[in-house]
Amino acid sequence: MACERGDMRAVTVNFESHAVEVKRVAEPKSPSDDEVLFRIHQVGVCGTDREIAAVRLVLPPAGDSFLTIGHEALGQVVQSGRNVSNLRPGDWVVPMVRRPCVPACKPCAAGRMDLCATGNYVERGIVRLHGYFTDFAMDESRYLLPVPPDLLDVAILIEPLTAVEKSIEVAQRAHLEYFGFDPPRALVLGAGTIGILAALALRDRGFDVTVCSREERDHPRVRVLDAAGIRYAGTEATWPADIVIEATGAAEALVTGARSLARNGVMIALGSPNASIAFPFRDLIIKNQALIGSVNATTDSFRQALHDLARFDRGVLQSMIHRVGFHDFEQTLKGPLCSYPKMVHVVE
Ligand code: BGC
Repeated sequence: MACERGDMRAVTVNFESHAVEVKRVAEPKSPSDDEVLFRIHQVGVCGTDREIAAVRLVLPPAGDSFLTIGHEALGQVVQSGRNVSNLRPGDWVVPMVRRPCVPACKPCAAGRMDLCATGNYVERGIVRLHGYFTDFAMDESRYLLPVPPDLLDVAILIEPLTAVEKSIEVAQRAHLEYFGFDPPRALVLGAGTIGILAALALRDRGFDVTVCSREERDHPRVRVLDAAGIRYAGTEATWPADIVIEATGAAEALVTGARSLARNGVMIALGSPNASIAFPFRDLIIKNQALIGSVNATTDSFRQALHDLARFDRGVLQSMIHRVGFHDFEQTLKGPLCSYPKMVHVVE
């Protein structure tokens, strides 16, 4: 389906028929003074997208019964509004996901939409705003992270890495880094994109990192960790850790994580579903432990992700990504989980 002037392709989830389908939607118009029009080149798929495609997360924009999916994107600037001085046609950008509530609450007004106090925030491709699995998109320049061309092969990992950056910052602040071990120990639960990126980011900060997950030893995701020189312990999470990052999507992992916490340890929950579990709260109290949930990310997390991505082993990052075509969305959104951590649609 070729793109005609005035309209464009959008991969949408229809919340009435439950179909994932290509729709023709209006192209964004010319950018206003603070806006930037960009062409989408890549769209990554994560667990949130699969939840939306499975119609378990149903938050269409007001008046619509469908949502254009896609919140992990890489694009190239086509046109900038006249107040935009930092982005020119041809520049590469990664958009941020969340936009403030209206009227803005205190955190949103301060640019901390990740901490929105009302819950009335919106998110591109997830919560009441159409996303980026389209040919073109428009955003205010403040929501676009400029990306240097030498990072293009792995830049699609920036958005998932931002969740990791925020979680490590929160964990380190929680106990002012008074951790028990030297070097500090980290346990990452889950060997998906977030788990692998968390392991890389924690190791880069000097942590002694172990990853635990259900994958067999010879699974491609474990081979990515092997290539990065990161310890993989299967389901044997027994040693005490100063920081635990939970990135599994399984509630039982929180109990495993809690049992693995050292004194003053902090566990950040990123992936768990809404489930009720028996939790060892007494230890949490007498060992000064903390369990903190974290979602979304800050503008600083995006900058930090860009910085870190350039430092990580490029071959390891590249081996995490598997690229597919625009139309392969049935496979990525509804098919069995791929052995590659990150599936990416090339939009052309
Ligand atoms: C996105 C976040 C978003 C969260 C909840 C994640 O997949 O990366 O930006 O806040 O979903 O909607």
